[in-house]
Amino acid sequence: MIANPIKWPGGARVACAITFDIDADSLIHISRPKDGFDRLCPVSMGKYGPKVAIPRILDTFKKFDIKQTFFIPAWCMSQYPEMVESILEGGHEIAHHGYIHEDPTRHSPEEQIEWFERALEVHQSLTGSKPVGYRAPVYNVNDTVIELLMKHGFLYESSMMADDIPYILQKDGRQLVELPVHWANDDWPPFAHYPEIDYMMHVQAASTGLAGFWEEFEAQYQARGFWMSIWHPFLTGRLTRWTQVERWLESILDRNDCWFATLSEIAGYVAQQDQDNLQNIRKDTLPYYHNVQIPDL
Ligand SMILES: [Zn+2]
Repeated sequence: MIANPIKWPGGARVACAITFDIDADSLIHISRPKDGFDRLCPVSMGKYGPKVAIPRILDTFKKFDIKQTFFIPAWCMSQYPEMVESILEGGHEIAHHGYIHEDPTRHSPEEQIEWFERALEVHQSLTGSKPVGYRAPVYNVNDTVIELLMKHGFLYESSMMADDIPYILQKDGRQLVELPVHWANDDWPPFAHYPEIDYMMHVQAASTGLAGFWEEFEAQYQARGFWMSIWHPFLTGRLTRWTQVERWLESILDRNDCWFATLSEIAGYVAQQDQDNLQNIRKDTLPYYHNVQIPDL
């Protein structure tokens, strides 16, 4: 079913990553900058992530001895430095997710550069190193961001949807590994209900919402592909949902043929295989379009 499945290390059938976007309360501040700070319910819903869900999630990862990747807006890293410390202590990866969850497509190239590089400085000061991975807030990556990632030597991007499995983004002789996302593995549709920022979703029962992710996983497992969740601690880290995730994770790890790794490990492996011409990794060339003229209708 997959034309060019990637042979994973150790004979694993599938590469897996449970990734979290720790947006915390940045979402209400960026959406309602004038009074978001005084909207205590959405602020508290966001704070549930760093304060309650992340310790729970880190405990599970420790119990099963897996290292995973967390995308965090820099502003959230500054607000919750103990959370950053606990993630690093667990040996996990922290990747770039904007400064305060600003949408790149709503800013000029100059503003995007300013926010992106300001975020890099926060990463550097709180983690001691530059991140190598990036996911755009609301997946809104654009060509300015791609340029920034290439300029700053990033290894991978994770906001696009052009394949089931990792592929290479190439532009002007440079490249990034793309670790593709999809809404089917994102917990926003089944679990988010956020009237203050105009998301009025129908919240699913934990088992119903999670069932969609497990179906995505099984298809990738059968096809020897790649499965990655895009979850938020204040949604999937809640008690009922995470209890079920932990049970599922235990059963999957019992199969002994699923490679759970950080995204930098997965992207590094793909980049190396491609560089050594060992596997047929698909390439997408950017920009997709030059000076497109859409006719007036
Ligand atoms: Zn986000």
